Amino acid sequence: MNIVLLGPPGAGKGTQAKRIEEKFGLIQLSTGDMLRAAVASGSEIGLKAKAIMEAGQLVPDEVVIALIADRIDRPDAKRGFILDGFPRTTKQAEALDRMLAEKGIKLDHVIEMKVDDALLVDRIAGRYTCAKCGAGYHDRNQRPRVEGVCDACGSTEFRRRADDNAETVSKRLQAYHAQTAPILPYYRAQGALKTIDGMAPIDAVTGALVRILAAPTAKAPAAKTRPAAKAKPKAAAKSRPKAKRRAKTAPKKAKRPVKPKDKRKAKRPVPAARRKVPRRAARAAAGRRSGARRKSR
Ligand SMILES: [Zn+2]
Repeated sequence: MNIVLLGPPGAGKGTQAKRIEEKFGLIQLSTGDMLRAAVASGSEIGLKAKAIMEAGQLVPDEVVIALIADRIDRPDAKRGFILDGFPRTTKQAEALDRMLAEKGIKLDHVIEMKVDDALLVDRIAGRYTCAKCGAGYHDRNQRPRVEGVCDACGSTEFRRRADDNAETVSKRLQAYHAQTAPILPYYRAQGALKTIDGMAPIDAVTGALVRILAAPTAKAPAAKTRPAAKAKPKAAAKSRPKAKRRAKTAPKKAKRPVKPKDKRKAKRPVPAARRKVPRRAARAAAGRRSGARRKSR
């Protein structure tokens, strides 16, 4: 199963990718990590990437694609991959598709983590951590119990990432939307795009992802039984008038079962204290009643 996870920086793609990676036995491919690893390994592509980065240039798409191609050939990628942070442009998406097609594999899901920009800015810009233990806090949503003192370790020093300010986050989001907007229709046209609410709590987002990823196994038998599935609506349509008829006759039928129910109730032994009519008389009455019903038919 091969997945692309789309979402702006700060949407929690990395966190979600890690969770899914473990659950489904996939490998998470972060192009940043792959580039760093390639450079460190001193491989041919790594050296090429290193030279480009040292020259202060953006690593060309074909280099990134080559890195991904190498990585997914490794045995640990047999069950599939999660691409996080790539592709960012339609050109990259097309290049990725070409490379995958050459290998005879395709993307199963492209999942967009949709965010509310204003909310995301607020969420990111308000966050800070304890400088000592790393516990996370937020200006509005999660303040320490005692102002200025870490709940976890008592430290009074906190850290805020320099780029976690409203202006920078807004700019990052704008850049993301400008670049990524055309990718969405590209993948939508392929029928691969699914959108989930990236603003939901972390566990809820994971749940939504798991539901999408678990779907193929459920889809496979559904595809086999498609004729049956098609037959079902027909059967349902046929049975609909029946159901209507039943509904019409239901009140009549409903009147009848009332008596047997009463009879059943009457048959049930009644505690002596509550028994006002002697049991034999009650039985006789029940007999009379059922007799009357038989006549009425
Ligand atoms: Zn702390």
